[in-house]
Amino acid sequence: MSMVEHWIGGERVSSGAGFTDLSPIDEQPVAQVARGGEREVRQAVAAAKAAFPAWARTSREERARLLHAVADGVERRVEQLALLETTDNGALLRSHLRGVMPRVAHNFRFFADWLLGLKHDDFETRGHTNHVSWDPAGVCALITPWNAPLMLATWKLAPALAAGNTVVLKPAEWSPLTASALADITAEAGLPEGVFNVVQGLGAEAGAALVDQPDVARVSFTGSVPTARLIGAAAARHLTPVSLELGGKSPSLIFADADLDLAVDLAIEQYDNAGQVCLACTRLLVAEEIAAQFTERLVDRIGRLRQGDPRDLDTDLGPQIHRRHLERVDGFVRRAKAEGARVLAGGGPNEELGGLYYRPTLFTDVPDGAEILREEVFGPVLTLQTFRDEEQAIELANGTSYGLDALVVTGSPERAARVTPRLVAGTVWVNCFFVRDLRAPFGGSRESGIGREGGTWSFDFYCDVKNTVSAPWAK
Ligand code: NAD
Repeated sequence: MSMVEHWIGGERVSSGAGFTDLSPIDEQPVAQVARGGEREVRQAVAAAKAAFPAWARTSREERARLLHAVADGVERRVEQLALLETTDNGALLRSHLRGVMPRVAHNFRFFADWLLGLKHDDFETRGHTNHVSWDPAGVCALITPWNAPLMLATWKLAPALAAGNTVVLKPAEWSPLTASALADITAEAGLPEGVFNVVQGLGAEAGAALVDQPDVARVSFTGSVPTARLIGAAAARHLTPVSLELGGKSPSLIFADADLDLAVDLAIEQYDNAGQVCLACTRLLVAEEIAAQFTERLVDRIGRLRQGDPRDLDTDLGPQIHRRHLERVDGFVRRAKAEGARVLAGGGPNEELGGLYYRPTLFTDVPDGAEILREEVFGPVLTLQTFRDEEQAIELANGTSYGLDALVVTGSPERAARVTPRLVAGTVWVNCFFVRDLRAPFGGSRESGIGREGGTWSFDFYCDVKNTVSAPWAK
């Protein structure tokens, strides 16, 4: 079994203690992982702090060149990284090969190019010039979840490095492997020692220690709301700016004028990654007139989803990440049943497959206010509610404490123009899902997060934006 160590100051560093990383495919151990704590975190932050001045002064062109070299390294290893990630977090190999790993490389290329194109706003005030610049902030702490480990880590890492910061990354303990592989790729690309560091470990130990370091200038976190509250409180002690990308309970609004085939396709997409997607629009809100027809088609499609080994390229639905997570998902399903919700599909673990496979589940007739309509499950569980009119659809859509995204399926551009501005969400998709452009802002409203990243928004966060005002020079 492989041993996964930290990556600090350009070297592998071990810890006295370790933990076992299991594969969700068969719950068998795949690696022993160093279990970092305060000591390793301090060491990594010190290495990042020492590397910062030189990296911050490195020209933009050189930083961009190095990030492209990292992207080259990722592209050379797409297959290896895809298989490693699938083994570690159970998401489909097909998605890792075709979408995720190429996107990881794109994250580096995009932010390298965006850096070179960043426009400095210069304005003039009574003969004085105002020069606005993006100065790197310092050491950035990045903390990431397990559902899309390398994608989410690099979506933060690339702009943080491009901006001239140094980084300490703490990947999720259920999916530590690709962050470690990335360390080797950055070294091979020639990234100077200490610019990128990885501390492995548990959230309550390595994660908590990292956000409580006075030398950390930024904390960017993707994960759950309860963890975000702890991180926000720790960062507040040091007045460290935080970016929080959190969970969701997002709605799909399916209007009577929708293309029904498209509506069913989009609903099925909400089971992607076995439901372990923050953006999943799991609350299907369907116009009364088409509800029966839509439901019949959806149930039929759910029945045809192929569940199984995520390494099989024909599989549609893999396992849940961990037994604890599967039990959490099942707890939501059991309580929904107890509250009177009716199961239209699934409703429990897949007994034929055993292990961590959970059947794609659909509930209807869910009583108002039931937990399953309010709380993020983060598993393959959708609910279906009906609405009479646009007003009720919007009210139901906005009726949770979250606001990550929303999906609108309609054949009417006028309706889309009326409805979308009234939805509380960081992203609204109309007749499409998961079309992501790195130039666009990404983040959540309400409890789905604080701040936006993407394009210039990322540089705003990872930099100290400065205005230099100069009086006219004497002739
Ligand atoms: P989590 O909050 O349990 O863990 C996320 C990370 O935080 C892990 O690396 C973990 O080790 C670390 N952590 C845990 N406790 C910590 C502490 N006290 N201090 C510092 N770090 C700590 O979340 P998860 O279960 O790994 O991920 C699932 C959640 O992430 C879901 O809520 C999902 O919606 C959300 N998510 C959001 C987005 C987004 O972009 N909005 C994307 C993916 C996932």
